[in-house]
Amino acid sequence: MKILKFGGTSVGSVENVRRIGEIVLNQQDQIVVVVSALGGVTDNLLTVAQKAALGARIDGEMMAIRKRHEEMIDGLFNEHDGIETLNAIHPLFDELEKIIQGVFLIGELTPKTLDKILGFGERLSSILISRYLNVQLIDSTLVIRTDRNFGKANVDFELTYKLISEACSTIKQFAVAPGFISSASDGSMTTLGRGGSDYTAALFAAAVHAGQLEIWTDVDGFMTADPRVISKAYTIPMLTYSEAMELSHFGAKVIYPPTILPVYQKNIPIHIKNTMNPLGDGTLICQSQTNGKDHPIKGISSISGITLFTIQGLGMVGVTGISMRLFGALAKHEINVILISQASSENSISFAIDSHFTDIAGEAISYEFEREIASGRISKLLCEKELSIVAIVGENMKHSAGIAGKLFHTIGKNGINVVAIAQGASEQNISWVVKNSDLRKTLNVVHEAFFLSPYVELNIFLVGVGTVGRDLIEQISRQQEKLKKEHRLKLKITGVANSRKMIFDREGIDVTTLKDRIDQSDEKSDMSQFCQTMVHMNMFNSVFVDCTANAKIAEHYLFVLENFISVVAANKVAASSDYSRYRALKEMAAKHGVKFLFETNVGAGLPLISTINDLMRSGDRIVRIEAVLSGTLNFIFNTLSKDIPFSQAVRMAKERGYAEPDPRIDLSGIDVIRKLVILARESGYKIEKEEVVNTQFIPSGYFESTIEEFWSTISGMDEEFEKQRIILEAGKQKWRFVGVMNEGKASVSLQVVDPGHPFYDLEGSNNIVLLTSERYNEYPMLIKGYGAGAAVTAAGVFADLIKVSNI
Ligand code: ADP
Ligand code: ASP
Ligand code: MG
Repeated sequence: MKILKFGGTSVGSVENVRRIGEIVLNQQDQIVVVVSALGGVTDNLLTVAQKAALGARIDGEMMAIRKRHEEMIDGLFNEHDGIETLNAIHPLFDELEKIIQGVFLIGELTPKTLDKILGFGERLSSILISRYLNVQLIDSTLVIRTDRNFGKANVDFELTYKLISEACSTIKQFAVAPGFISSASDGSMTTLGRGGSDYTAALFAAAVHAGQLEIWTDVDGFMTADPRVISKAYTIPMLTYSEAMELSHFGAKVIYPPTILPVYQKNIPIHIKNTMNPLGDGTLICQSQTNGKDHPIKGISSISGITLFTIQGLGMVGVTGISMRLFGALAKHEINVILISQASSENSISFAIDSHFTDIAGEAISYEFEREIASGRISKLLCEKELSIVAIVGENMKHSAGIAGKLFHTIGKNGINVVAIAQGASEQNISWVVKNSDLRKTLNVVHEAFFLSPYVELNIFLVGVGTVGRDLIEQISRQQEKLKKEHRLKLKITGVANSRKMIFDREGIDVTTLKDRIDQSDEKSDMSQFCQTMVHMNMFNSVFVDCTANAKIAEHYLFVLENFISVVAANKVAASSDYSRYRALKEMAAKHGVKFLFETNVGAGLPLISTINDLMRSGDRIVRIEAVLSGTLNFIFNTLSKDIPFSQAVRMAKERGYAEPDPRIDLSGIDVIRKLVILARESGYKIEKEEVVNTQFIPSGYFESTIEEFWSTISGMDEEFEKQRIILEAGKQKWRFVGVMNEGKASVSLQVVDPGHPFYDLEGSNNIVLLTSERYNEYPMLIKGYGAGAAVTAAGVFADLIKVSNI
């Protein structure tokens, strides 16, 4: 015999009931079909009952429930059978209306009456399904016997098993039974608790020693996490009973926790299947051990709406019976404790309960420990609300070291505060408490960290959509599919700001509509607001990308890093600002386990900083850096000719987008100083911009005037440069603007290089860097290539993004 249970969605539409017909009637075995109420009907009944008790009108709701059933009958039956079925359910509606009327008049809803009302959902659906399948109906209230603990009654197993097996001994091949409902010995109707239809099916399975219990629901099986929260969750092919038990205990609603025990005791496998996808493999829950090759973590589950109590006091240490009294007091009020955590010093115990019971629990404990509290032996009773419990479960955890370390490192790195932790002694679950507002982020982070997700997601908040920003967006859109497929990385743009507007979208902004969306946005750009919103969105793996050259934006980095969000900056203001600020940013990033990357600050996309970092990390020491770091200046000096005077070369550099908006930042040497300072700092030297010796090659007056004056007078330099140029040309020499750093001392100046010098052949706007280290000493390391331009800079930013994702 097999027991098949169909949940609310499965019985809730004409189409799905037809599917049930195909699934059930093609079977060879003897089958009992256990059904839930039509999806949502139990909740509707609960609303009706509660409203009636408050004296509110419920005609509309009652009509809706009736109509829902009548429409199902309309869709499932021919005219004759339809009328008969309607006749069969009408008396139930009359009875329900009378009870509700009673609640309305008395203005009181007892747990006993509530059970009676909620039970109508299954009573109605079972009539419908048994008539549709044209098979016999077993009245579960006659065979499942419980105590009078209304709302969640306790089963008398012996009697129930006897009654079920008697009832099943006479069925032909198929029968239908309502889930969820049962009765006490005095005949009152009881229920097995919300979600209890699964349990009904398990009781039937255990009673008849069924070959299998099948739970047919609306998802493809037991998944690695709740698919409504984690879109990347996938079906777990196999679970042991205890894994399934732990996951459901901690909130995986797909199976009601008490369901496992009856079938586990009889070693009956549970198969979870999707009514909408009957050919899918589903999940098999059985005794067999995992084979050691599985992920150590099988799944994650969570419960929100939790209150955590902590009792604390030195007077508790070494005193026997405290826990017994504590949990005894809670048990007296039937308060279920979901998680317990005790400090090994015994001076505090924390426990988590459903927040509905917060007040009762608080009173019960205060009453139980009245004397200890008065005498100060218990000093504190703390109560924290609006929390959630999250649990990871897997039998293989006990064979893998370092799971807890990795878990809490990952959680901490994302700025999630852990309120309490508990680990089962069997080492097959670790559970912990976080704020409700951190739950979604926690689930995502953990799902990803333990490779339960098929890919890693990076949530990008981009500021600046000028040339570099736009190029970056384009590169992201081009690479997206490939990265996802080959590198398990999904890049998602979740926020964008330009100088006028900003937009946010938790689900990701489609790059093809990004420009329109930002143009149409009503939200004015405001960097403080942008950062606040980004932090408030509380998304995991977030990264702030600054593609501007704006000092105001760089001011926000510390706040961003402080909130556990990585920063990727093409903007060089921060890394080249005061040394103390640079250090503060680096230290904040290290402290919070996030990244602060700025590879494109020097040499655009050239891997300069990362090379220096790698050399340093591998124990090398950078002794000397010699470099041509200004693409603009190199372009200018490579362009000067008989026909192109100095002032025109400067103009050309600006027109081609090499130069900074004010070319004097290049001409004065400031830009190179900034870059040299960054390289020196990354090489481990404490240096300020002011300490770099700057030998300028045009008179300082040019830098003190306005930009307009500069443009109108710069041609005054042409003659002097032309004179020098002729001399250089005769000697086959070239100008290079060179930065040198030697053991922490730095200088920049215009130098003349001879043929054969490594800097001699340096075309266009290219950059070159010679790194002398202890290891690369006699022959320094040479890095050369495009040192400016939007595309290469965007590619460098892109490379930093990939580094943030850690793949
Ligand atoms: P039914 O009405 O069939 O009994 P439920 O709503 O009780 O269905 O349970 C199925 C739901 O459980 C799914 O739709 C899903 O949203 C939720 N759920 C929570 N955690 C999990 C999980 N780990 N795997 C699958 N489903 C889960
Ligand atoms: N119909 C009941 C409920 O909604 C039982 C179930 O669906 O399992 O809780
Ligand atoms: Mg259910």
